[in-house]
Amino acid sequence: MNIDHHLDAATLVAYAAGTLGEAFNVVVASHLDWCPACAEDARRAALLGGELIGNLEATPVSKDCRSKTLSMLDTATLHRFPGTPASGGEVPEPLGHLLGGKPLAELPWKRKAPGLALYDLPLSETSGGKLFLMRIAPGTAMPEHGHGGEEITLILSGAYNDKFGRYARGDVADLDESIEHQPIVEPDAACICLVATEAPTRFKSWPARLLQPLIGI
Ligand SMILES: [Zn+2]
Repeated sequence: MNIDHHLDAATLVAYAAGTLGEAFNVVVASHLDWCPACAEDARRAALLGGELIGNLEATPVSKDCRSKTLSMLDTATLHRFPGTPASGGEVPEPLGHLLGGKPLAELPWKRKAPGLALYDLPLSETSGGKLFLMRIAPGTAMPEHGHGGEEITLILSGAYNDKFGRYARGDVADLDESIEHQPIVEPDAACICLVATEAPTRFKSWPARLLQPLIGI
């Protein structure tokens, strides 16, 4: 896999520190599964964090702190733990777990607009973000849009181009709200992406705004 577009350093540090939202965690963990370079950076960021914690002064904690912490493991999201690869390499392992090993073609995709289908992935109730798979037909131009918050997209198959270059399998678009772009999918195959957002995506043009409630992204 030839990966050209990587995670932002700030995203990697936040991931290592455990401060990323649930949806972002899945996309980041999925990219790390495919990208040795970012995985190494994340490992270093975690080591650095460990050093910093090691230098802090000790703080007294409650008697039940240990048992409370351990019981939280029962509800922890499992994508950060290693396990049996479920997908045969079609998707990264953390995503494969969330899909229960189902191939992408067998998911109950919902058609949202001509050339666009979505599949929502469940998150816990406290998550403020959104996590979904997006399948865009060959040759489709997405409406030009900015972002109400941050958005991280991992390309699973196919490819698209925008003003930042070509994005293909393994690449991530780690965008903040100031970025506007218009991805155009290449003509030979559909593009399937894993997308995490922190706030609803805001499409800029009038037709696109009308479309937004229907598309639901
Ligand atoms: Zn990377």
